[in-house]
Amino acid sequence: MNTFKDLGLNDDLLQAITDLGFTKPSEVQEKAIPILLNSETDLVALAQTGTGKTAAFGFPMLQKIDVDSRTTQGLILSPTRELCLQITNEMKLYGKYCKGLNVVAVYGGSSITDQAREIKRGAQIIVATPGRMKDMINRRLVDISKIQYSVLDEADEMLNMGFKEDITDILSHTPEDKNTWLFSATMPREVATIAKKFMYDPEEITVGKKNESTSNVSHEYYLVNARDRYQALKRLSDANPDIFSVIFCRTKRDTQKVAENLIEDGYSAGALHGDLSQNQRDLVMKSFRNQQIQMLVATDVAARGIDVDDITHVINYQLPDEIETYTHRSGRTGRAGKTGVSMVIVSKSEVRKIKSIERIINQQFEKKEIPDGSEICEVQLMSLANKIHNTEINHEIDKHLASINELFADTDKDELIKKFFSVEFTRFYNYYQKSKDLNVAESSSDREGGRDFSRGGKDSTRYFINVGGKDGFDWMKLKDFLKEQLGLGRDDVFKVETKDSFSFFNTENELKEKVLAHFTDFKHEGRFVNVEVSENRGGGGRRDRKGGGKRRDDKRGGGGRRDDRKSGSGNRSDRRKSEGSSKPRRSNSSDFASSRPRRSRR
Ligand code: ADP
Ligand code: MG
Repeated sequence: MNTFKDLGLNDDLLQAITDLGFTKPSEVQEKAIPILLNSETDLVALAQTGTGKTAAFGFPMLQKIDVDSRTTQGLILSPTRELCLQITNEMKLYGKYCKGLNVVAVYGGSSITDQAREIKRGAQIIVATPGRMKDMINRRLVDISKIQYSVLDEADEMLNMGFKEDITDILSHTPEDKNTWLFSATMPREVATIAKKFMYDPEEITVGKKNESTSNVSHEYYLVNARDRYQALKRLSDANPDIFSVIFCRTKRDTQKVAENLIEDGYSAGALHGDLSQNQRDLVMKSFRNQQIQMLVATDVAARGIDVDDITHVINYQLPDEIETYTHRSGRTGRAGKTGVSMVIVSKSEVRKIKSIERIINQQFEKKEIPDGSEICEVQLMSLANKIHNTEINHEIDKHLASINELFADTDKDELIKKFFSVEFTRFYNYYQKSKDLNVAESSSDREGGRDFSRGGKDSTRYFINVGGKDGFDWMKLKDFLKEQLGLGRDDVFKVETKDSFSFFNTENELKEKVLAHFTDFKHEGRFVNVEVSENRGGGGRRDRKGGGKRRDDKRGGGGRRDDRKSGSGNRSDRRKSEGSSKPRRSNSSDFASSRPRRSRR
């Protein structure tokens, strides 16, 4: 086995490597570093996330550039600002003994003039996101005409995110004879095309099998009713007291909501999505890195490439739209040789996607049951017992011992232990005492055709609209119509149900005024279309109402009751009674992120 020294790295770098505590090179480093150090060549390297790619290109680049010159010699392109900052930090750490080194991060959402000023001071290496880099070039704030080494990091993700044109444009401003090093976890055709277009006879290295996801991640799925998703999430968390996880949602709105609910329910959680300010995102990421936040709820885009070690679980609160994205999600755990679990909460309508994912990751899922209350109580109790057992005694207590002893003079050890544990345990016990079984038996019937019935309840408004099947609408057409009319996004209209001559749909409460205003005196193809608020919020379950469709079609929407009360079975208020609002509150529930004491690392 080679050491870093054997690979040909110089003393400045070796010293930094020792400081970082890297003892031996990873496979991709062992393969890439000698090639890049010893020849002027292009390179295509395929390796999963977490295999140490940053150092694989970072060390050689640092060794090859001239730190005495202020010319920009190296350009690293990466898909997101988070990754860009991460790489910049790593490069600074690797190069901390390279005197005069200046690595500058260039990314959107932060002052472009500040970044330009930093570059002017003499940046030998720029780490950039494609969008901002292109901006900088167009505004002539940066000169990359003397680049010798360019890196395309996470090339597959950059292309996924639609950066192909930006990359092409940026590279056209760099010299022909530079070397390009492309790093990617997978090799889809677009990456191969880019490689062909920009590279000259590249060396190729592959670590592990192509397109195979990290095998120290195990995959599990849990089948629940869509409306029980959130309860299931809480149980999975409660059953894993030391969880340190990323929870993926499909939309920004769901991400925000799940995070808010978790925080409200006393979990240490935070949200990461594109609607937050840079500052908020940085804070959340910092708390997460420090493990002050146990559960980071994120969208796919915002979480791209997040490199935080020790993530124990990835939880797919909802499956991604594109099943390929699953690989990127699950790759957030099981990093740096550790094991991890990727969990998927699925409803019946999505369960068939599991099969397709299995084919992509070339690994089997295990179907598991959402733990019941007694299991969770046991886990929590034992976790508490272990924590107490391993706690270091704080001798500040000594001086109060006399009075405490006095209070417990008549309590024997058994009783004392029971009392002591009850302080924490009763909270979980009471909460889960009334809990129900969330698991759903798997069967192929009762498919919901991919519709999302998971939302609803007090935060959403259900509407009646006096058009339906007779008017040529099925639920998809009606959803499209409403989105277009109201100028809304894909997830803003949900639970669309069409009957023969009328239909129902939901939006979040905050859209109520807009919806009602839009459909006041509204005519579509010559007839009045009327929308009114329905009394029922629409739940899961069977939606066929007896005699549905027989209703009189009133052009102004009058006549008849406008609730579909009888059809919904999953009424939110019923559920709340059993396991909704009376959650087991953590003792320090309100002070989630920053003020929470740092968790001990596993
Ligand atoms: P990738 O880009 O392949 O996803 P990173 O370069 O982000 O992986 O590295 C993943 C983690 O492994 C980082 O925390 C990094 O500091 C660490 N790491 C990299 N190389 C080594 C090594 N040789 N020994 C130990 N840890 C390493
Ligand atoms: Mg990386």
